[in-house]
Amino acid sequence: MSISKIPVATLGVPRIGRRRELKFALESYWSGKLPVADLLDAAKKLRAASWTEQRDRGVTKIPSNDFSLYDHVLDIAVMVGAIPETYGWSGGDVALDTYFAMARGSHGTADHQGCSHANHGHGVPALEMTKWFDTNYHYMVPELSANQAFTLTSTKPLDEFLEAKALDIHTRPVILGPVTFLKLAKCNGTTFDRMALLPKLLPVYGALLRKLKQAGADWVQIDEPCLVLDLDRTERNAVELAYQHFATDIPDLKIMLATYFGALGDNLDLALGLPVAGLHIDLVRAPHQLEPVARLARHDQVLSLGLIDGRNVWRADLPAVLDRIKPSIAGWPLNRIEIASSCSFLHVPIDLELETALDPDLKPWLAFAAQKMDELVVLGRALSEGRSAVAEELHASAEAVASRASSSKVHSPLVEGRVSAIDESMMHRQVAFAERQSQQAAKLGLPRFPTTTIGSFPQTPEVRKARASHARGELSYVDYETFLKKETETAIRWQEEIGLDVLVHGEFERNDMVQYFGEQLSGFAFTKHAWVQSYGSRYVRPPIIFGDVARPHPMTVAWWQYAQSLTDKRVKGMLTGPVTILNWSFVRDDLARSQVCRQIALAIRDEVVDLEAAGAAMIQIDEAALREGLPLRQSEWKTYLDWAVECFRLASTGVNDATQIHTHMCYSEFNDIIDAIAAMDADVISIETSRSKMELLDAFKTYKYPNEIGPGVYDIHSPRVPKVAEMTELLQLARERLVDAQIWINPDCGLKTRKWEEVRPALVNMVEAARQLRAAM
Ligand code: GLN
Ligand code: ZN
Repeated sequence: MSISKIPVATLGVPRIGRRRELKFALESYWSGKLPVADLLDAAKKLRAASWTEQRDRGVTKIPSNDFSLYDHVLDIAVMVGAIPETYGWSGGDVALDTYFAMARGSHGTADHQGCSHANHGHGVPALEMTKWFDTNYHYMVPELSANQAFTLTSTKPLDEFLEAKALDIHTRPVILGPVTFLKLAKCNGTTFDRMALLPKLLPVYGALLRKLKQAGADWVQIDEPCLVLDLDRTERNAVELAYQHFATDIPDLKIMLATYFGALGDNLDLALGLPVAGLHIDLVRAPHQLEPVARLARHDQVLSLGLIDGRNVWRADLPAVLDRIKPSIAGWPLNRIEIASSCSFLHVPIDLELETALDPDLKPWLAFAAQKMDELVVLGRALSEGRSAVAEELHASAEAVASRASSSKVHSPLVEGRVSAIDESMMHRQVAFAERQSQQAAKLGLPRFPTTTIGSFPQTPEVRKARASHARGELSYVDYETFLKKETETAIRWQEEIGLDVLVHGEFERNDMVQYFGEQLSGFAFTKHAWVQSYGSRYVRPPIIFGDVARPHPMTVAWWQYAQSLTDKRVKGMLTGPVTILNWSFVRDDLARSQVCRQIALAIRDEVVDLEAAGAAMIQIDEAALREGLPLRQSEWKTYLDWAVECFRLASTGVNDATQIHTHMCYSEFNDIIDAIAAMDADVISIETSRSKMELLDAFKTYKYPNEIGPGVYDIHSPRVPKVAEMTELLQLARERLVDAQIWINPDCGLKTRKWEEVRPALVNMVEAARQLRAAM
């Protein structure tokens, strides 16, 4: 390996370990099997491994404190003493179990599910969890009060700096910036200006930075991704205040201010005016900002160029990257440039080399964190030594990109032709909702306040075991299918027995609502070891959409048919929508996301049409992740929502008017996207409302949402069985906001994470609530 003379930086690396060591250590610690010392030791080994790996690969600006036992936002909250009273902390060191109580609740029954993230168990609840910007990583939301005090409770960044130093590795500690920290927090109690807390927070950061400086740190990386968001005046002032403070307080510590996930945009001047020694910009998401930044930045600053994608898995076109940046940095002193990842590598898998079973044609097109480090080094060397010094690497990079561009595995003329043939008529139903509603009512003959569920029933240990042993080849497909059919039949019988109106088959055959479809569509690849952290100890292996998407054969029709054959009641067809499939995958970067989504939409459309042809009168298309895909900047929302809604319509409108299209969304904020929700024109939408006590239905009331709605009456994130009265109460609230003919009765979400012991009484109560409501009319 040769070292690049231009510094090469990763802004952070995955924490979980090549073989998910962190998860296994955590879970074994939580279950009481692993002593704390062993957990800490495992964490220490992981840090050492990633520092040495980076060093050995030629990374010269190696981060420390990017590691976290659970979450880096939680780390800061704990470090500055922002620990809500419920956790019983009374000053001093924060016990590890307090930290984990904030992460998972004190009973340790982390109950987070793909779609919603609060933890309502008994005992002390966990902090809320939400998406980290527009990634699929979730952070713990710090809670602040108006009179919040801050104090330095831990020296984690210092400890990890010294730990690396002991290994003879000089690191650049990473700390989440104070303004982003405050912006991401939740303010409890009366509304107050959270930025007013900044003057109290800065001395705590200052104390830490001083310790780092004394320990020998010359640079620190302070992350302020909030600089790519829409900021108001108070927030912008806060940014200025913070960095002025650090410049005066610790003048000889150099700050690399890291911005990522988008363009600085209207915060450009603000960022450029800050007294920091370095500025990192994301040139993958926002390549165009290089020109203005290089033109306007002070030449005594270091510019960190985020050139390698920390959000996606594709190998870069390195010669093209060099060509692209060349004009902008022509006048910039080379000794004031750093080559970096666009953002932390937290969001990509660790090492492609672990994927021994991946299609050999596909593999050279990919780069995970390890390969991306190599790419950074090549870029650094090309800039410092000239391209000829790395001619071979550049050539290989261009080759890989060219082979991908021309591969028949990527491009299907058939799919491309279908997408270009999409026309307006494929994007709406034949008649308006009111007319469809009466056709559907006549066909379906449902009672008022029809009851249904969202799709999945408990994925019991037996279901998981059967799937795993089938995957290992120990259980034949025939036996596996027989098992799944029995589960399905039991579920159908039981739903009939308790009197649900619209049944579901239970989704026992599905491992995951995206993976199940991806595995049957062409253009998708799946990995064996490419885990990325979703939150805490939960990791996911997102599908990789590498090529044009097509549906070679029906995906769900046989299961639906089987379920329907068992009963005279209606069974809903159950599909995942195109936007959700897109948002939960690694998406190819050689085609606009909107186009990829249209391809998926056409595949789902085919499935919808096939389900209808097989006799399904109701088909649900889940769009759990539609809202998640919203761009960070409000100004870009409309474009996204336009194509996202268009794709849902494309997927859903190929049916007759008497066929009822359902959709499901897992969240509770609709006010700002209600127009888009209405534009989807699903006949029925089910949403999560129980925890917000139907408040979110206000959006549907003011807006006069015209179609039918199932506001969730049963919080499936909790093991608690809701009483009949609780559900009738919620339904009364719903009736104050909607007309009766609109209302469906269903849980908040799918029941796959629950146990049958919880689901059975809860749904019996739900059906009873519906009966009481009908009786009272
Ligand atoms: N049909 C899916 C289920 O019931 C929907 C889940 C989701 O949207 N998160 O599990
Ligand atoms: Zn849901």
